[in-house]
Amino acid sequence: MTRIAFIGLGNMGGGMAARQVVGGRDVAAFDLSEAAIAKVVSAGATGAKSVAEAVKGADAVITMLPAGPHVRKVYADDIFPNAPGSALLIDCSTIDVDAARAVATQAKAAGFRFADAPVSGGTAAADAGTLAFMVGCDEADFYSVEETLKPMSRVTIRAGDHGAGQAAKICNNMLLGISMIGTCEAFALAEKLGLAPDRFFEIASKSSGNCWSLSTYAPWPGVGPQTASDRNYEGGFAANMMLKDLKLAQEAAARSGATTPLGNSAEALYQLFDRLGFGGKDFSGVLQMLRGNLAQF
Ligand code: NAD
Repeated sequence: MTRIAFIGLGNMGGGMAARQVVGGRDVAAFDLSEAAIAKVVSAGATGAKSVAEAVKGADAVITMLPAGPHVRKVYADDIFPNAPGSALLIDCSTIDVDAARAVATQAKAAGFRFADAPVSGGTAAADAGTLAFMVGCDEADFYSVEETLKPMSRVTIRAGDHGAGQAAKICNNMLLGISMIGTCEAFALAEKLGLAPDRFFEIASKSSGNCWSLSTYAPWPGVGPQTASDRNYEGGFAANMMLKDLKLAQEAAARSGATTPLGNSAEALYQLFDRLGFGGKDFSGVLQMLRGNLAQF
C-alpha cells in the first residue's frame, strides 16, 4: 500500500488527508494541533508525534501549511533530514514563487523529486476530493505527482517548471479576491436598491455577472449552495489567507512590472478587514464590512 506522510491538517489539509485514506493509501499524519490530528485519525489515518516520525518510510510526503516561512522551515529542518531519498515531495500550500523555487533547489540538491502543487476549490472541494491542482515540477515527475494527488483531485494541470504552480495560483487568487469583492459590492448595492438577495442571486447567477464567487461561494447567508456565510463566516478560506495571497500577487506584480490596480484595491480592502479584527473569518465576510454591518459577527 502506498504510504503517504501528510503534514498540515488544517481547514484544507484535514479533508485532503482523509481523501488519501479513502483512496486506499496508508496515511501518517502530523500537525502542531492535536485536535487536527485526532480528526484525521478518526477518518482512518495514523497519527504521528512529529514530522520526522510521519515521513519515515514514506513513498510520498504532502505538505499543506499556512505560508512560505512554514514551508521553508519544515522542509529544511524535518523533511529533508528524515524522509527516504526515494520519497516524492509535494507542497500544496500557497506560497511565494521564490520560496517554492528555493525549496525545490534544496530538494534537488538533497536528491529528492519535488513539486509545488497549490490548489483551488476551497474546503468543500478538499473534503470531496475535487480540488484543482496547478503543478510546477520536472516534466519527468508529473505522472507520479498526478497519481499521488488523484484521490484529492478533480483536475491536475502542469503549469511548468518549479514555481510555475505558485505563479498560476497567485494569479488565480488575485482574480478570486477581486471577484469576491465585486460580488459583495453587487449584493450590497442590490440591498440598497430594495432587491431581495435570493432574487438577485437567481438572476445574476444566470446572467453575465455570474462567477464562482457568486454561484459556488455566495457571500450572502442563506442564498445559493451552503457556504461559509451560512456558518457565520467560520471555516472556509480565512480573510488573512486571502490577504497573504493578494500581497504575494502585488509583490510579484511590482517585481515583474505588471499593472494590477484592482488587485491593489482588493489587497487594501482585505488589509482593512484584517486590521478591524476579522482576518480569521472567511474571506466572503468582507460583505458585512461593505454593508457597514460588522456588528453581525
Ligand atoms: P489552516 O491554518 O487551517 O491550516 C494550516 C495547518 O498547518 C494548521 O492546522 C497548523 O497547525 C499547521 N501547521 C503550521 N505549522 C506547522 C508545522 N510546523 N508542522 C505541522 N503543522 C503545522 O490553513 P488552511 O486554510 O488549511 O490553508 C493551508 C494552505 O492552503 C494555505 O497556504 C492557504 O493559502 C492554502 N489554501 C487554502 C484554501 C482554503 O479555502 N482554506 C484554499 C486554497 C488554498
